[in-house]
Amino acid sequence: MVVFDWAGTTVDYGSSAPSVVFDRVLTAAGLHLTREEINRPMGLEKKAHIRQLLSSESGSAQWQQLYGRVWNEQDVDKLYETFEATLHTAGTGSEVTCWATIWDPEQDTKRSLENHDNYAAAALVDPELAAGMPVRLAVSSALDAVAHAVESYWARHTNAVSRALALEAIRTVMGSIDQLFAGAPAAHDAMARGSMLAGLAFSNTKTTACHSISYPLTMHYGIPHGAAVAMLLAPVLACNAPAVQDLDALLGALGVADAAGLQRRIAGLLVRSAQPASLEGWGVARSDLAHLAGLGITKGRADNNPVELTPALIEEMLESIYPMATIPCAG
Ligand SMILES: [Zn+2]
Repeated sequence: MVVFDWAGTTVDYGSSAPSVVFDRVLTAAGLHLTREEINRPMGLEKKAHIRQLLSSESGSAQWQQLYGRVWNEQDVDKLYETFEATLHTAGTGSEVTCWATIWDPEQDTKRSLENHDNYAAAALVDPELAAGMPVRLAVSSALDAVAHAVESYWARHTNAVSRALALEAIRTVMGSIDQLFAGAPAAHDAMARGSMLAGLAFSNTKTTACHSISYPLTMHYGIPHGAAVAMLLAPVLACNAPAVQDLDALLGALGVADAAGLQRRIAGLLVRSAQPASLEGWGVARSDLAHLAGLGITKGRADNNPVELTPALIEEMLESIYPMATIPCAG
């Protein structure tokens, strides 16, 4: 079985995790600790937590009995690796798409892999695995899912099925995203459902301008993928609006009246989750915008946008989110 990370990354590297995941990792190693024992060191980063569990009376006794020796650092590393393969966030819906990405900072390139053999035979979507996710990561991952759905809705390759899935995905995520700040389990459930529906939508259509323009922002400045695509949603919406079929249904699902409203809504979510809502805030140099704009046209994404993208138009969009100001095409 291959288990996908919903955000396509392991960006919560080192952070704390829910007890259900510790339970699975320990059970796989043959150890059985109670939920109370597992929760005792809660709040530590994962490796420190594993050491505490193995040092506990029950943990060390079971280890000795199972393996005939005391545990060591290599054992901790092994358990930790299992963790990284089973702990997930939320966003890409990669469990239901045929896409994968390869990032090569040395070559300054990002490649998309597309192969129908990449489709999983079955996908297991368990929102409980996202329970320990930091709010910042949860919000940017949720916004990534929204971008997948929105872009699928207006893509040149859009169709009736992907549009229906996309609208439901957007409603599901945007309707519950505010509850992520309170860590509500129902919100994680909605994000899991929304990101899966968005994954089904864009597995039909691919993404468009937001993703295409975002890649160099992530590559050069380390802006988390979800935050980078989210900042681009409003400026791209403003430019695409005249070419979007049934724009009102899209705006209704997003819960905004226009691109300016979307800009405010997304900026609010980013700022509330302690993330900058402008390129300047992420440390981007203004003198880099023209270069970044040139890199923003990627094959298969840019040419799937309903409105033709040019480096000049992309530069205008980047200017508009550096810092927050009026967005192009919005009048
Ligand atoms: Zn994405």
